Amino acid sequence: MSEAASPPVRLKILQTGEPVLRQAGRALTPGEIHHPAIQELIAHMRDTMRDAPGVGLAAPQIGLGIQLAVVEDRAEYLTGIAPEVLASRERKPVPFMVLVNPTIVEYSDDTVEFFEGCLSVAGFSALVKRSRRVAVEYLDERAQPQRVEASGWFARILQHEIDHLRGTLYIDRMETRSFTSIENIGKHWKDLPVEAVRAALGLR
Ligand code: ZN
Repeated sequence: MSEAASPPVRLKILQTGEPVLRQAGRALTPGEIHHPAIQELIAHMRDTMRDAPGVGLAAPQIGLGIQLAVVEDRAEYLTGIAPEVLASRERKPVPFMVLVNPTIVEYSDDTVEFFEGCLSVAGFSALVKRSRRVAVEYLDERAQPQRVEASGWFARILQHEIDHLRGTLYIDRMETRSFTSIENIGKHWKDLPVEAVRAALGLR
């Protein structure tokens, strides 16, 4: 999937309110996954995610109602984040991966709550509770069946992206009183533990 010779392609990322973001994507067949058009789309989604930058991008976000998402949490994204924040979020680099027709087959009972954002709800963020660990079965870009067990921030990314493929956005799951502009996160909430944020917002 290396395309060193081609300039990166930036697809338009749709914003909330577009109907396709609220529709379940259809599954892809192995034959479709191997098709050059899908292989090219995967490369374009990777470029678009990196350009945004984001740690995941699902096909409905670029207007396609199919069960395809890309994920990547690059080491360079983590350099500006305080070590204690990374530790509390259990956030570590995740290599680039392609998820086709993914299903979450196991959810941990223990949950964790953090501010989460979405490229399709640009400029905003909110507290979202997610399972701390999940197991996901999916097809990779070669249509090979795979299973991944993820914890911490990686598990959150997977839950967020797979939600997109079902027509769900984080705003459906968020603690509504915590909904905030990104600017105000930096101003008021950034370095506070979640418990302190909840107390300040009048949440128990
Ligand atoms: Zn999103």
